[in-house]
Amino acid sequence: MGLGIFPTATLINNNCAPNTYFYMDNYGMMVYRSNQDIKAGDEVTTNYLDPLQSLTRRREIFFKEFNMFCECSRCATMVNTENQCPTCSQALGKQNLRTWEPQPASDFDGQVYICDKGHTTMTMAYEMLEELSGYADQVGHLPHIEATMQKYFQSVGTVWLRYIRYEALSKVDNMLRLNSKTVETIERLPQMDDAALGINARYLVHGLYKEAYKYTMLLYLLKEKKKNGSSSPSQQ
Ligand SMILES: [Zn+2]
Ligand SMILES: [Zn+2]
Repeated sequence: MGLGIFPTATLINNNCAPNTYFYMDNYGMMVYRSNQDIKAGDEVTTNYLDPLQSLTRRREIFFKEFNMFCECSRCATMVNTENQCPTCSQALGKQNLRTWEPQPASDFDGQVYICDKGHTTMTMAYEMLEELSGYADQVGHLPHIEATMQKYFQSVGTVWLRYIRYEALSKVDNMLRLNSKTVETIERLPQMDDAALGINARYLVHGLYKEAYKYTMLLYLLKEKKKNGSSSPSQQ
């Protein structure tokens, strides 16, 4: 563990679909690499946060921890359609938000989503589930949580993707707990990242690239293990 101060790096602004990614090299230097062609005069950007967080969550963290409201190209053009009506699966956006009147009890902010068919859902339900999606590795696989996540969030959205990603990755460190569903999930994750973030998510975000590499290695080991019967992949 170590700490470093990189004054030049702080000059690079955030973009939730950045044109560089960064990492620390073996000499403790902060390295920024482009992930696409950057035209002369274009701003060089990087990502401050996990770009797989939903728009609502990214804005919340930026506001609380960076004292800013992110208006990058991705945030400014993206309508939050992560959420869906749990009854009829209609995508819900800002246009479905209402304030429930009269204002009810103190632990409810009065914000609800109303879909075109009139189904009403408290926005708090989405906030709580989104929070939970970040702890899937600790909560473990609980079928009822998975079913609820599926009901409330779009299948190509980042909230749902984050949930299944954490769920699958928590098993990477303990290969004995891997089942065929986890393997299938891991195999599909790169395509799902691309769908949620736009094309070539792996090259856009270094963390995702590293994870894709990790999955590839893991799946290779699993196939080796299968080939060699019950012997462990670490055996010669
Ligand atoms: Zn942004
Ligand atoms: Zn509905």
